[in-house]
Amino acid sequence: MTPENPCTCPGCVAACKRKPGWFMPGEVAQAASLLGMSAQDFFDRYLAIDYYAREEGELTNVLSPATTNIEPGGYFGFRPHGRCVFLTTDDRCGIHAAKPFECAQDLHRPESDFQNIHTSIADTWVDHQDEVRALFPGYGEPPPEPTIVDGLDMLFAMLDDLGRL
Ligand code: SF4
Repeated sequence: MTPENPCTCPGCVAACKRKPGWFMPGEVAQAASLLGMSAQDFFDRYLAIDYYAREEGELTNVLSPATTNIEPGGYFGFRPHGRCVFLTTDDRCGIHAAKPFECAQDLHRPESDFQNIHTSIADTWVDHQDEVRALFPGYGEPPPEPTIVDGLDMLFAMLDDLGRL
């Protein structure tokens, strides 16, 4: 995969339809600049807050593309995440040149490596929470509590994923 040639294999596109990758600190300003927008406008129109929960219960907030289920400017909660807002109708990445760090990694690797990447991105955000706080007025609020409907939606999404394996 190169900046000119994004991977459009079924596995990568399926990931874009299920759960967008996470940005690293500083990347949102670069992506916004590429689109000629302020970071705040970029966040309000296209991004949402996701979080990484540690065993001790501590949450680290990270910046992610929003999805069909997670409104821009909002908070990822206990819901199936859905299709990335940047995935075009012909299943291409609409911000390929400035896609999140996690999306730019080689996803054709064992699940354990993917989890390590996820964790290391969250670790990087620990000392950059000010970047999230500056964009997200609700910073510090806990993620939304799951509802029964959320739980059922998540169950159906998991069953749907299993059917695709
Ligand atoms: S930013 Fe691009 S590569 Fe990442 S999930 Fe969205 S469409 Fe896919």
